[in-house]
Amino acid sequence: MFEISRRDLVLSAAGAYAAFGLSKPIAFIGAAEAQQAPAAASFRKYKVGDIEVFSLSDGVWEKPHDDNFIKGVTVDETKAALAAAGLTTDFVPIPFTPNVVRTDGKLVLIDAGTGGGQTGGPKAGTLMKHLAAAGIDAGAVNVILISHFHPDHIYGLMTKGPENTAVFPNAEIYVPADEYRFWMDPAVIEKLPEARRPLAKRIQEIFPLMKHKVHQFEGAKELVPGIRPIDAHGHTPGHTAFHVSSGKDQLIVLSDTTNIPALFVRNPGWHAAFDQDAVMAEATRRKLLDRVVADQIMVTGYHFPFPAIGTIAKDGKGYAFKPA
Ligand SMILES: [Zn+2]
Repeated sequence: MFEISRRDLVLSAAGAYAAFGLSKPIAFIGAAEAQQAPAAASFRKYKVGDIEVFSLSDGVWEKPHDDNFIKGVTVDETKAALAAAGLTTDFVPIPFTPNVVRTDGKLVLIDAGTGGGQTGGPKAGTLMKHLAAAGIDAGAVNVILISHFHPDHIYGLMTKGPENTAVFPNAEIYVPADEYRFWMDPAVIEKLPEARRPLAKRIQEIFPLMKHKVHQFEGAKELVPGIRPIDAHGHTPGHTAFHVSSGKDQLIVLSDTTNIPALFVRNPGWHAAFDQDAVMAEATRRKLLDRVVADQIMVTGYHFPFPAIGTIAKDGKGYAFKPA
């Protein structure tokens, strides 16, 4: 487990800030450190008590800028926030980082990735390669926990149609009941904006094929030893974070509670086009970020820069992600 006390974090960040005479928030410091991480990101293994956790890179989406990405925020403002975090301004770099958790003899995958680039652009789809690099056989995965049904989290469950082969043939799949109900309703397709309809169709195509393996969960009951769901609705109707704990150690898997930290941890009030109920998503974001700050809980975020592990601190009106 990474032990960074809140006091150390604040002091070291403040020290660096003073030493470099920077008029920048501590978010800049954290992101700049993140940029020095090895470029060839594949997997990172760490422990939460007795539980083994892997961050696995499924590549990155180099999302072109567009005016509608963040409500009320211009492309220039978005570029300024990326630059302040030491990131490229040519596009919005959105990484994908599923986790594997080894707990109580079970191998648990949290979110299934982009499906070999079925979504997320040409630089997405490296999950299977990196699972192999980590010595994890897809056939050995016993359980898959799904945070929500956006394509970058579920397309990895199955190969492309018409084959539609299960990628993790021996896994039982646990999905949030609210998410399942929303997307599986045949009437939902008509109600969705045009751009979301192919996703709903694909969801309604693949989940019946896995039916005997799919289990819906509700509430905060433990799903596998040491892992409980946290209601984090807003991004989607059933969006879920996960609490991993062993002994005194804890980790919160934030899923898509926030997209990339440089934009949405720094500015929790920015509403990304991906958030279905942006007001609820913001309330959820602030609530969860306040919790991990107050309790000094380690976090991992699906769209955080690899290896996507660290802590959160309050920083002015927003928050700062401090990579571990
Ligand atoms: Zn996502």
